[in-house]
Amino acid sequence: MEQNKDINQFDIPLAKRTYLSNTNSTLIKKLLILSPFLFLLFSTVVWRLVKNIELRTLDNFNFQAEENHDHRILGHLPYNEISKEKLVLIEPNIEVHIDMRDSLLKMREEAKKEGVYLVFLSGYRSINLQNDIFYNLKSIRRQEAAERARVSAPPGYSEHSTGFAIDIGDATQRDTDFETEFENTDAFKWLKKNAAKFHFKLSFHKDNKYIDYEPWHWRYEGSIEALKVFETSNREL
Ligand SMILES: [Zn+2]
Repeated sequence: MEQNKDINQFDIPLAKRTYLSNTNSTLIKKLLILSPFLFLLFSTVVWRLVKNIELRTLDNFNFQAEENHDHRILGHLPYNEISKEKLVLIEPNIEVHIDMRDSLLKMREEAKKEGVYLVFLSGYRSINLQNDIFYNLKSIRRQEAAERARVSAPPGYSEHSTGFAIDIGDATQRDTDFETEFENTDAFKWLKKNAAKFHFKLSFHKDNKYIDYEPWHWRYEGSIEALKVFETSNREL
């Protein structure tokens, strides 16, 4: 057994070497004969690749051109859902994107120092929750989707799914929560004057042609990710 093993170990590499060098010389001969054809084949492949890249660039260009167009549904722009690991809980039931947490809490602190009490009503909302809100409220209010969309985003089209949106109320006037009358509260007046310092901005102004005025709904634009998320929306303003 020992001996057989030794012979095998010696024999196999030697056999391999002979075989390989034979193949190499035949291969070189074949290559020399075939070289004009190979050159032709190679050129064809390169030409096709270049053509493909050109086509793809053209496709991208068309796609971008389309991107500049409206992707709205009932006036709302599409938004992806934030990945769970970027969400932080700032108080029971209120989750936001980690990028905006500090700024948001600081804003509430600063307002408090001036005797204005901000209350957070709604932060991140999953697309599933948005689905419930949109379709349930629509049937409760017996509204058509188009009417409903003026006051609520269809699922997949809400700024709340990005974690960068926050609905704010006035702690001393809770009857104005989610109401246009919120604009008459001290909280709103303070926000209008100071929110920009904390990188917050009103998403749906009075003159918004698609969606009803929402004085309570603010979005954060103080990080690169947030700016990217709202780029299309800002471009169209
Ligand atoms: Zn909102």
